[in-house]
Amino acid sequence: MKKHVVLYKKLSAPLMERLQAYAEVTLIEDPKSAGGVARLRDALPQADGLLGASLKLDAQLLDLAPQLKAVSSVSVGVDNYDIDDLTRRGILLSNTPDVLTETTADTGFALIMATARRVVELATMVRNGEWTQNIGPAHFGTDVHGKTLGIVGMGRIGEAVAQRGHFGFGMPVLYHSHSPKPAVEARFNAQYRSLDALLQEADFVCLTVPLTAETEGLIGAEQFARMRPETIFINIARGKVVDEQAMIHALQTGQIRAAGLDVFESEPLQTDSPLLQLDNVVATPHMGSATHETREAMARCAVENMISALSGERPKDLVNKEAWKHA
Ligand code: NAP
Repeated sequence: MKKHVVLYKKLSAPLMERLQAYAEVTLIEDPKSAGGVARLRDALPQADGLLGASLKLDAQLLDLAPQLKAVSSVSVGVDNYDIDDLTRRGILLSNTPDVLTETTADTGFALIMATARRVVELATMVRNGEWTQNIGPAHFGTDVHGKTLGIVGMGRIGEAVAQRGHFGFGMPVLYHSHSPKPAVEARFNAQYRSLDALLQEADFVCLTVPLTAETEGLIGAEQFARMRPETIFINIARGKVVDEQAMIHALQTGQIRAAGLDVFESEPLQTDSPLLQLDNVVATPHMGSATHETREAMARCAVENMISALSGERPKDLVNKEAWKHA
């Protein structure tokens, strides 16, 4: 008998066809709407697999799915899941690393360029018909090339940002991670720093850590106080890694120069957020991996991980390796 997969993210036709060769599929297009939540709750008791993204999968939902064997997330970040709880329940969790690395690093660099050169602010001025004379120092930005790039979290995406900075823009690279990374140091002439030292020295501080119990609130008032008035702060990781109120204060008071933000404490960002009143903020809608090519590649990866799990094989991108031992 075919297994049953509850899908809470729409797939392209070829991927849907591929998944349907292995499973009966129930698609719930908007699992966060009232109707979507009800349909999800109705479908969970029959689910062997769950495939989607951006949904907090809590214990109450999991309790409704007694035969669930696999969750395939269309994301690399797994902060929406209680990994220990999934492992206890014997549910395999997989994600989609690697395929989104370069695209997300591109987004990081887009934010670096946009904030430093005030691209959004000045383009808005032109669009509004306010470009009436040659611009002067009041509208000048700051250089990116040759400035010091500080990466907090030198993993896959951090490394891809460092690559762009080092080879493309001649930027000295500093980084902070759990431990030094000799291969990265050799490749980019990068230097390891404590978090405090990096925050003091870097012109651009770029966050690429996962959201975990350890990184939640990693950057707060104390950390912004260590940065300099020239510092540009970039967050392409997760909003909750940063104390947003402390960041707003740092931006409002000139403690830091600007921020390029793809992620926020609460998403979508509230339209009355003080961040949207600040010219020195470039805010994007959690679009790190959002290109046609990369989103399709992520979905393909998630489908393949699900098919493996349903076929009794170890998914390529298994997150909770412990669960496999008991599977
Ligand atoms: P990764 O390869 O696992 O890299 C994460 C790095 O963070 C690791 O090198 C790790 O260091 C470091 N790290 C973890 N905890 C740390 C801590 N407390 N202090 C310092 N460093 C720490 O993951 P990735 O593929 O690069 O993705 C990183 C994150 O980016 C994801 O988890 C996701 O939340 C976010 N992301 C956002 C978007 C977006 O749309 N904006 C898109 C994709 C991903 P060690 O290696 O030393 O342990």
